[in-house]
Amino acid sequence: MRKQRLEQIHKRLIAIREDLLMEIKYKNSEAAQLIDEGVADIADQGLTDTLKEFLHLLSDSKREEILSIDEALERLGGGTYGVCLECEEPIDIERLEVQPHTRFCVSCKAKAEQLESLKTGLGKGTI
Ligand SMILES: [Zn+2]
Repeated sequence: MRKQRLEQIHKRLIAIREDLLMEIKYKNSEAAQLIDEGVADIADQGLTDTLKEFLHLLSDSKREEILSIDEALERLGGGTYGVCLECEEPIDIERLEVQPHTRFCVSCKAKAEQLESLKTGLGKGTI
């Protein structure tokens, strides 16, 4: 991959990471405020718990995203960026431009998703 392109991707990764951090901070302060308001109204305890849970789930997925960005930045520094972690084939540049912190190529990602939906499908069926 061309050095100029890698530099662009590096910049984008940093920008996405900052956006995510901002979003988490914003959601946290928003939720903290709602929780504070909820404390005044003890009858609404259930809502506050749901809110806490929601926030936890939200920041978990965002944290996961930040983690994958950090990994991508590491690979970028180590010279292994843009290679699928599963099949070790180069990932399409179009895909990297849309999602610079992706770990897998299109076909490995599709396979993983298929497996995932199969798993959840089976899980539901057995209950
Ligand atoms: Zn692959």
